[in-house]
Amino acid sequence: MLGVLAVYHLHDHCHFSERDGAMLEIVGRQTGIAITNAQLFTETQRLATTDQLTGLFNRYHFFALAPRELERARRYRHDVALLIIDVDHFKTINDTYGHTAGDTALKHIANQRELRDTDIPARFGGEEFIALLPETNLTSALRVAGRLRATIEANPVLLNGHSIRATISAGCASLHPATRDEHLDTLIQRADRALYTAKASGRNQVVSDAS
Ligand code: GH3
Ligand code: MG
Ligand code: MG
Repeated sequence: MLGVLAVYHLHDHCHFSERDGAMLEIVGRQTGIAITNAQLFTETQRLATTDQLTGLFNRYHFFALAPRELERARRYRHDVALLIIDVDHFKTINDTYGHTAGDTALKHIANQRELRDTDIPARFGGEEFIALLPETNLTSALRVAGRLRATIEANPVLLNGHSIRATISAGCASLHPATRDEHLDTLIQRADRALYTAKASGRNQVVSDAS
């Protein structure tokens, strides 16, 4: 049952005719189709924009939202920062505890609540995440990423009697006065370069690319 259609007469002692009943049945059926379509549309939209494992936005939706936000920041000369996050030695977690445990760990990592509602976090690829942080300068972005790193390190995933400790590395970049004209792809490139440095410097750390 999708819902109930209640129809009342304005006057007492009045009755609905059989014809009224037939008409209401048609109205009810049409309304039911409209509700079902609306529910299907909402569900389809959710599936198209969400990563099923983590519940974060998927990569496709990130690239639908982020350029607009970046353009807004450029035009109005606001701050914006980008984080790219990669789980450290994730293959070892899979190899040690199994792929299902790896999935649980990924979900756990993705659902640490350190970002603001206005931030745009997404699953970028396998065990990589990306987040655009509007109204955030590089110093603040480093602080946010540092907090996330510390939270993940301090909160291991508890699964089947095992405590699975994961760490992350993150690269940060922001629009700054000299590079205001920048597009999303070069911002990603710079954050990615910083992530590479974080990995090469021993992992479990946050690095910024201020160049
Ligand atoms: P590094 O610190 O250099 O990032 O090492 P790493 O082991 O994390 O890096 P690598 O890219 O070698 O391995 C990533 C692994 O992530 C390999 C892949 O099987 C795993 N992976 C990707 N997507 C998923 C997923 O959805 N679930 C699980 N369980 N594993 C995944
Ligand atoms: Mg990776
Ligand atoms: Mg990794």
